[in-house]
Amino acid sequence: MSSGREVPQPISLSTWPTPLEPLPRLARALGLDAEDLWIKRDDLTGMGGGGNKTRKLEWLCGAALADGATHLVTTGAPQSNHARLTAAAGARLGLETVLVLAGTAGSEARGNLVLDALFGATVVWAGDVDGPALAAAAEDVAAALRDRGARPALLPFGGSSAVGALGYDACGRELLTQAPDLDTVVVALGSGGTMAGLVHALGPERVLGVHCGAVDDPVAVVSALFTGMGGGPVPSGSLRVRTDQVGPGYGALTAPVMDALARAARTEGIVLDPVYTGRAMAGLIAAVRDGDVVPGRRTVFLHTGGLPGLFGHPAALRATAAPLDGEGLTP
Ligand SMILES: *Cc1c(COP(=O)(O)O)cnc(C)c1O
Repeated sequence: MSSGREVPQPISLSTWPTPLEPLPRLARALGLDAEDLWIKRDDLTGMGGGGNKTRKLEWLCGAALADGATHLVTTGAPQSNHARLTAAAGARLGLETVLVLAGTAGSEARGNLVLDALFGATVVWAGDVDGPALAAAAEDVAAALRDRGARPALLPFGGSSAVGALGYDACGRELLTQAPDLDTVVVALGSGGTMAGLVHALGPERVLGVHCGAVDDPVAVVSALFTGMGGGPVPSGSLRVRTDQVGPGYGALTAPVMDALARAARTEGIVLDPVYTGRAMAGLIAAVRDGDVVPGRRTVFLHTGGLPGLFGHPAALRATAAPLDGEGLTP
């Protein structure tokens, strides 16, 4: 007889490992040596347009299936990549997905919202609410589903719980087999589970998180997740978190982020998004400038996905869509 819950087991939603590739032209453009900078392609997780939420969903959906779930319910911002990948996972597993999103329905769906609809998810708009109110709205949706005889699994904001973060503990160990001499992995910090899992695998000194403005206190959030994973208390001041790339707020586009998008695209053909990976790259550029990331050591940029978010961000599209002038090239 088993007492209490089973230890969660992940299911497979992609093909692993993701590639680790060099970025020599970007490295030189930033003032590093060509062989210093690498990119871990967690944007190339096959399902649903890809991205970091896939690794967390392998664990969260594993637990949901073990629990006999009929529905996946989760929360997010309107352009949530986590919501989009939850919808894709629901489709793949034959579960209904309900997305409880902050905000109100716009006149026209863009970016991730187009894909949410394509994957057949139901969207419930919670209005302009804060985090706790959004979580409460999702609880209400789950209760209503239970009243109808369904068995909903409520997945955490951003997929970030101690269980979801196990996906990034696995990523950290995968990365060490690919780059045993890793000095620093640079990662966007949203709901915190990605950084917490990496810190669990690699230790705090090798993980540099770039805060994106999705939570109020990023250090407290990552610390709590790390402790929840059984990692013990985080020594005060040991987490490396940059908070200088948020700008006016989560959805705002900043000049350093636009510069980071253009540099990655024009040196390596790599597309970043304006909310997460663009901030992470802007944070890496700032870290090279202030000496936190130095030449002669191996730095890995973790590409966490988010491409659909670029097409859901009107300001980024306006800033990007001015092509270089072709003057003199026409006959
Ligand atoms: C969610 C997300 C992140 C941040 O990951 P967290 O685990 O929420 O901190 C980074 N990049 C992209 C593209 C994301 O969608």
